[in-house]
This record gives sequence, C-alpha cells and structure tokens, in this order.
Amino acid sequence: MENIDWGSLPFGYFKTDFNVRSYNKNGAWSKLEVSDSEYINIHMAATGLHYGQEAFEGMKVFRGKDGKVRMFRWNENAKRMRRSAEGIMMAEVPDDLFFEAVTTVVKLNQKYIPPYGTGAALYLRPLLFGTGAEVGVKPSTEYMLVVFCGPVGPYFKGGFKPIAVQLVSDFDRTAPQGTGHIKVGGNYAASLKPSTRAMKEGYSAVLFTDAKEHKFIDEAGPANFFGIKGNTYITPKSDTILPSITNMSLEQIVKDLGLDVERRPVKVEELDTFDEAGACGTAAIISPFGKVYDREKNKLYEYGEPGVAGPISTKIYNTLKGIQEGEIEDKYGWNYIFDF
Ligand SMILES: *Cc1c(COP(=O)(O)O)cnc(C)c1O
Repeated sequence: MENIDWGSLPFGYFKTDFNVRSYNKNGAWSKLEVSDSEYINIHMAATGLHYGQEAFEGMKVFRGKDGKVRMFRWNENAKRMRRSAEGIMMAEVPDDLFFEAVTTVVKLNQKYIPPYGTGAALYLRPLLFGTGAEVGVKPSTEYMLVVFCGPVGPYFKGGFKPIAVQLVSDFDRTAPQGTGHIKVGGNYAASLKPSTRAMKEGYSAVLFTDAKEHKFIDEAGPANFFGIKGNTYITPKSDTILPSITNMSLEQIVKDLGLDVERRPVKVEELDTFDEAGACGTAAIISPFGKVYDREKNKLYEYGEPGVAGPISTKIYNTLKGIQEGEIEDKYGWNYIFDF
C-alpha cells in the first residue's frame, strides 16, 4: 500500500483490496463472496443496464480518538435499500445479509480506514441491480449485491465553509409520483445536466424545486435542504425527497439542543427569512449555504458573514461529527462499534 495523504483525499473512487458480492436467483441469496477484482461480469441484457433497475447506498465508517472503529446507523441504510428495492421491483436484501456484507468489506480493508483527525472516513457503497437478461420491460429474476469501500475526504473542497448553490426550476430530478423517495440511479442521471451546468456557472451544487409547481424547495442533488429561522430547524416535507439519515439524525440533535423542528412544505420565497441554510447528507454531514442563486428569477439570497458558517449549523455539525467519532455520547445507539 502506498502512503496515503489522508488529509487531502477527494470524495472519489479509491481502489482497496477487496469487495463483497452476493447473487439472487429466483428469490434466494447466495453466500457472500469475497473478490479482489474491481470488475463485474454481467449479461449485456441485464435490466440494471437497460431499464434502470439499480439502487445504491452510501454510508461511512470512522476511526475515533479512542482508536475504535464506528459505523453510523447501518440499519437505516439497510432499511432504505429494502425500500428502494421494493420501489423498483428488485429482490430485497435482508438486513442480516446487508450487515454481513458491510462489516466484511470493512474488516477486509481495515488498513484503509483513515486515522482520526484527518477529516477523512471510509465510505461504503452498497449497490443492488438486476442482472437477469430481459429485453421486454419487466423486473429481472436475478440480482446482484456488491459492496465496495474506499477512503474519502470531505465532499466539498475547502471543508466546513459556506458554498454557493443554484436553485433551478427548469429541470426536475424526479416526477411528483416518481422515484424521488428512493435511492435509485435514475434520479441521479436526471440531475447530471442541471448540476453540471451549475458547476460551469460557478456553483457547487443544485437546489431543486418541487416538480409539480416549482414553488417549493425540494432538495439538493445528493443532500436534503434545511433552514434555520430563530429557534427553529425547518426541512421540506415532500414525497419526492429522499429521506436522509443525516437529516433524521440532525432533527434529533436540534431537538436535544432545545430547538423546534418543522418538517413541512417550504416556499422558495422563504429563503429570504432564514438566518442559516444548508444541505445535509452522509458525504459532508452539512454543507452550509453562503449563497443561493435563483437562476430563473435572477435573485440572490445570502447568509451570514462571507466564508463563515452559521453558529447553529456549526454546532450541529460538530455534534454529529463528535457522535460519529466517539467523542460525544451516543445516547441513541447510532454507532456499531467493530471488535477490532
Ligand atoms: C443519499 C441521498 C441523500 C442523503 O442521505 P443520507 O442518508 O443523509 O446520506 C439526500 N438526497 C438524496 C437524493 C440522496 O440520494
């Protein structure tokens, strides 16, 4: 293994030694297989390739100050992957197989778990897709689960600093009664054009509005939206938003800090009334917003001092990070602690 500069790792693919796989045929899952290949061999007519029968998860493993290795809320990822499978008619991965897969891949790649204090973590990517050959549009009778992992640095370069995002209403990542609530690849395919355009125009990410009326805030490409108004944490309620495990955890943390939580439709104009705003997800925990630019209306919303994240965003970011790294009491039992 080469010397890894943990502190400057991007959020990207990193080759490790092993990944794990399991195969489902006619409803039964195979024993977990360990592979040292980065490639998979599948049929060219696999439904995952043609008809988007594909779902994934993203989760992180952290090394704490105490040297222990913790995995955050894996059972929520397992549950969400079952919901995603159900939503596009794939075989569901039982929680015990999911657990065996994620813990095995971590154990086999222990040397890639970044040291405490580097801001880096081991990212796990479970992947489920249809492998059966079909040409007619119907669910596959065969599926494959793959879990690979790799060390990653912070999602947004520059660390915990406010970013500028672009609010769009000329693209939708999902339809009102579509697949926005599940973590399927198709939603991401639909987000690539507006997010690439936003980056070209100087923004770090896109903030989507609701697909029906484009009047409400939906979510950022890969992260949920939240705003802070006085003593209240506000996050959109919508059927097209992916239920973020980070958001769920932050809602509990802000309640414990004595803030109120509102989960309700959030009008775009309300951006004017927030003291702080940001996006939350596993990759970054929180990406505080310094600027939100409404591309259609040519209107700019700004938050806080330039370059400085708001006090509540900072507090809840540090709290969740502290729980994940074992420095703040994990009173809800969110962490699984590895026995190595
Ligand atoms: C994965 C994802 C999130 C973040 O969810 P976490 O469980 O917090 O990582 C938010 N929005 C979308 C669309 C996602 O795919």
